[in-house]
Amino acid sequence: MPAIRKSNKLINVCYDIRGPVLQEAKRLEDEGHRILKLNIGNPAPWGFQAPEEIVQDVIYNLPGAQGYCDSKGLFSARKAVMQECQRKGIAHVGIEDIYIGNGVSELIVMSMQGLLNDNDEMLIPAPDYPLWTAAVSLAGGNAVHYLCDEQSDWYPDIDDIRAKITERTRGIVVINPNNPTGALYPPELLEQIMELAREHKLIVFADEIYDKILYDGSEHTSLASLADDVLCLTFNGLSKTYRAAGFRSGWMIVSGPKHQARDYIEGLDMLANMRLCANVPAQHAIQTALGGYQSINELIVPGGRLFDQRELAWEMLNAIPGVSCVKPKGAMYLFPKLDPSRYPIRNDEKFALDLLIQQKVLIVQGSGFNLPDTQHFRLVFLPGADLLSESIERIANFLQSYEQ
Ligand code: PLP
Repeated sequence: MPAIRKSNKLINVCYDIRGPVLQEAKRLEDEGHRILKLNIGNPAPWGFQAPEEIVQDVIYNLPGAQGYCDSKGLFSARKAVMQECQRKGIAHVGIEDIYIGNGVSELIVMSMQGLLNDNDEMLIPAPDYPLWTAAVSLAGGNAVHYLCDEQSDWYPDIDDIRAKITERTRGIVVINPNNPTGALYPPELLEQIMELAREHKLIVFADEIYDKILYDGSEHTSLASLADDVLCLTFNGLSKTYRAAGFRSGWMIVSGPKHQARDYIEGLDMLANMRLCANVPAQHAIQTALGGYQSINELIVPGGRLFDQRELAWEMLNAIPGVSCVKPKGAMYLFPKLDPSRYPIRNDEKFALDLLIQQKVLIVQGSGFNLPDTQHFRLVFLPGADLLSESIERIANFLQSYEQ
């Protein structure tokens, strides 16, 4: 029998956060090695508990949550998201404009499947959260990466975005706060992005899953709150702020001139119908999560674990000769740069693999985030202070003698 091959649709699809380096880490673990895993933004394994009240909601409602629900989600969950839109200044959002999904991931894929024809273009940040690029490729589109500038706190380069718009460009993805850089964009910059979208009739895809993980007293502005004349799809969920990534629960909000997008919205409805509905028990957590006590606020101030671990990891990384790192204003990641004159890295996947094999520390190489250079890597600062220090000391030891 001839070899069974994957579909052509997957040929350009790539998601390196769970790629070959992770496979090697699993192999080493099976051999009994202890691996320090700084690779995935999954708070729970590091002792970040989901708020007890949302766990109790799921337990309480479990017996009655055995059936399918409306394909767009439970009314109570969507009502809570609608009220969150009101708090965030996103205008004219009704229950029918909200889709609950099995995590933001499912909704990202759905939003691209519903929109793109072959060779349509989507503007995506570089570096990006790579699911966006993968979802565009899977839908037959072309991901066109716009630069985020490390010299300017990793802000999107507006001129670069403008230069990359063509008649095939359907939309622009903005991840704010950003994964992997931790950048938080100021309202003036968001206004400029909106202006471009307005001028070129682009749909805005705003991934705001880290909107409440902010440091140094920073505030978040939802892109969709800046204009009601631009079609926006805004994404958020329980995985990060509410530390419940395993619940697989997220939401997507359609706002702006919906009457111009009736056909696209019909497509989204059809895709939502085809997967019947999202996990029902987890949807019972959404109302309490959004409306209840925001325990995340205890973690992001001095003395809180996320704040203190960011300080520690950032200072330790910057103290390594030849390593520099922009301080993240949000999210849970650091994206350091290796000075090319000191550490010329030709293949950063090999760099990540060498670090894993020699020091048993697992990070993700920068090219995994569709960055066109090989001098960066991402680590999460979720592990507690002791493990974080040990990991970064190991990275420093590794770099002392590393040559490629
Ligand atoms: N968007 C961004 C920017 C992320 O970092 C992640 C997860 O790391 C997701 C979306 C996926 O989130 P979910 O767990 O809701 O699928």
